[in-house]
Amino acid sequence: MEKSRISLEIDLEKPGKHVGYARLPYSVNRSAYGWLPIPVVSIKNGTGKTVLLLAGTHGDEFEGQVALTRLAQELQADDVNGQLIILPMANFPAAKAGQRVSPIDQGNLNRLYPGNASGTPSEMIAHFIETELMGRADFVFDLHSGGASLNYVPATTSVASTGLASEEQRKSLMSAFGAPYGLMFASAPGSGSSSEAAARHGIPRLGTELGGRSWVHPAYRDICEAGVRRVLGQLGPIQADDLPLPPPVKFLTVERDCFVYATASGVFEGHVSLGSEVKKGDCAGRIYFPETPLRAPEPVHFLADGIVVCERVLAMCEVGDCLYHLGKA
Ligand SMILES: [Zn+2]
Repeated sequence: MEKSRISLEIDLEKPGKHVGYARLPYSVNRSAYGWLPIPVVSIKNGTGKTVLLLAGTHGDEFEGQVALTRLAQELQADDVNGQLIILPMANFPAAKAGQRVSPIDQGNLNRLYPGNASGTPSEMIAHFIETELMGRADFVFDLHSGGASLNYVPATTSVASTGLASEEQRKSLMSAFGAPYGLMFASAPGSGSSSEAAARHGIPRLGTELGGRSWVHPAYRDICEAGVRRVLGQLGPIQADDLPLPPPVKFLTVERDCFVYATASGVFEGHVSLGSEVKKGDCAGRIYFPETPLRAPEPVHFLADGIVVCERVLAMCEVGDCLYHLGKA
């Protein structure tokens, strides 16, 4: 594997708490020898497991960015047995811009693994994370939310990957995290996701979807922070016995027919709210066409029975935009 061109200011082998930048070479008109600063915190002590914590994979998803920033401040080396490697703004250019994909190369970090050492900035970040960070980790967190266009119920997510933790083990970690919902996604080979990257290293990966709307919901950030601590407690690097036990998790599977897409370009009016139970064929909402005022609105229907776990929060839609998605009990 080609060596990463991203250089890290801190030594990940060194015990203690350290912060620095992963320097991504970026030579442009305004900065000939410049680099982009990806913040990295390492907290290392003792011989326990190494956990990689990522947020800002998508730059418009903020609950995880804030939760990891708080954890990085609160946890000291003495609190840790093992190592925490924390990247609160994993795709830094996207997170800096508050956008899902990077404004400098349109890269979607969660579609680009295993990346490319000499590719676009986003490809270089994916390659750095997969080779330099996952290569030394025993477990990966990748904290997501709905971002600018979606809003989610608070949930952990897990993708079935061959050779990894069994469904029972994944559910046990999701129960420890304690978000009210646990979404079990089918494996999607070739997706370029961090799940696939973790699977290549033979390590488990847990994700989240916690709210969205380009906002930080304090209650969901609380769930995220306590959840990360409880999972770290279960894995070993920190003590989390003092945290209250979480409520039971409702596990739902997410399949292809759970997704409802816009069938026309117009203005969508959604008729169901997050957490609702719906049946196949139920009306999800209507697309209106103010530009052609006499055109009848187009109803959109659910394709399966399930619970609404995700909603689009932008009224304007185009053919192919996801309007809702369900989880199946
Ligand atoms: Zn995301």
